Amino acid sequence: MNKEKKSFNKCLICERPTHKESKYCIFHASAEEKTEEEFKKALKEYVNKIKKEDGDYDFRKFIFVGEINFNEDLNVATFKNTSFTKTTFNGDAYFCGATFEGDTGFGKAIFKGDAWFRGVTFKGNVDFSFATIEGSSIFDPANFKGNVDFSFATFKWDSFFARANFEGEAIFWAITFGQSAGFRGATFKKVTFFNCATFEGEADFGSTTFEQYADFERATFKGDANFGIVHNKEYFQATTFEQYADFERATFKGDANFIIKVLKKNIGFKHALITRGKTLVIAITDVKNEVVINFKKICLENVYLELFLEKKTVIDFTKALIRNTVIKKSQIDNHIFHEEKKNFLEAQEIYLLIKNNFHSIGQYEDESWAFKKERDMERKSNCHFKSLHKWLWSCFLNIIYGYGEKPWNVIFSALLIIIIFTLLFSVTGIGNPEIIEIKGTAIHQNSGDIVDLASKGFLKNNVIRNFPDSLYFSTITFTTLGYGDFRPLEGWGRILAGSEAFIGAFMMALFVYTFARRTGGR
Ligand SMILES: [Zn+2]
Repeated sequence: MNKEKKSFNKCLICERPTHKESKYCIFHASAEEKTEEEFKKALKEYVNKIKKEDGDYDFRKFIFVGEINFNEDLNVATFKNTSFTKTTFNGDAYFCGATFEGDTGFGKAIFKGDAWFRGVTFKGNVDFSFATIEGSSIFDPANFKGNVDFSFATFKWDSFFARANFEGEAIFWAITFGQSAGFRGATFKKVTFFNCATFEGEADFGSTTFEQYADFERATFKGDANFGIVHNKEYFQATTFEQYADFERATFKGDANFIIKVLKKNIGFKHALITRGKTLVIAITDVKNEVVINFKKICLENVYLELFLEKKTVIDFTKALIRNTVIKKSQIDNHIFHEEKKNFLEAQEIYLLIKNNFHSIGQYEDESWAFKKERDMERKSNCHFKSLHKWLWSCFLNIIYGYGEKPWNVIFSALLIIIIFTLLFSVTGIGNPEIIEIKGTAIHQNSGDIVDLASKGFLKNNVIRNFPDSLYFSTITFTTLGYGDFRPLEGWGRILAGSEAFIGAFMMALFVYTFARRTGGR
């Protein structure tokens, strides 16, 4: 009986005496059970005791009433081994300029007002996992010397991390930024994880530096995602990714701008999704090594893709989905990963994809270019002994009509064929038939009759070997006109003329096909 009564008078959480009617002490009692005045009075006494005994700052599960400013209200500028785990702040909480020594815990804490951490230095590890900040989260700038864990935290209003300095690992797994998230000018020195993070508003990472791996796998950007913006030529807000940057399966619902100043390794957008009508800009300047933009299985449908890449930057489009996407040919030419790596079979598939995309947006000039490229890749992939005949045939087709995309090739080929035959006819000679009329009379040898020679004509076949006549004959034969003023000589001459007429007819058909194809008859 006695024991039961005693336990009733103790706080259920910390064994301090209960506060008035509550089952909890003054610190753990709900906001309705205590006044701000009596809470702050008790808090002051508690903090003074910690200072005096050099104890730990233990505020676990405390329920703060009203606004709290640790520096002004309690004269605390340095915290040691601090725990605000599961603490509730019912008003704004100010920690501005404070130093936290040792590890600090804000796990599962609830801030119902703003959380002010401006100018704060965390010397040890910090835990904000599952914390909820309903007001603004102000960390600009804060200095995190140890590891930081913000996983599953919810920042309901704007978050400010501008110029914040993360010296340890920064974990933002599955964090939710309810409004804007500003990391402008922040520095992440170790690996950074934003996996499965949700950015409901604008995400600003302009001028941010990621010195190691930056992982945004499965992150969702519902507003614009700015990893650097160009306001004008002088004013770049370029992000620095010193190592890898991974946006695998990330979803971009707004425009995504990646203006990247330094990128030593690759940037991955594998399986990434860009929402219709939005723009994905990737500009990479100052490239030291070869950089691969990983667009494997990326989904680009009805979007605008702007690429400003340097020579060494290549794009890997393996199994990507690109449809109705506005791309400029000049921005991808010479940047196709598989082509540069001489994997021509894969490159062929990618050019087919690009070709179909250009067709879908009605850029027929560029479609021709991509189609030609696709054929080039096919030819190059056949360039080994086993499929030599394929390669030769493909080379032949490329030269004579550029796979139906180069009418000028047909014209040049035709001219070349005419010249070759001209030279051959110059050697073999062509016949120039001439009827020789014989006038006068003659006495027949046997009968002795007088014969009138005017009625007789003799056909004389002059053989001509000069160039202009050969050229004329070659052209007439090629075009299958055949006036008959010149004729092939018997034997080789006839074989040559026949062959040229056949080739000529074929080339004419080819020209009509190619010309029609290139002028809209597709
Ligand atoms: Zn208590």
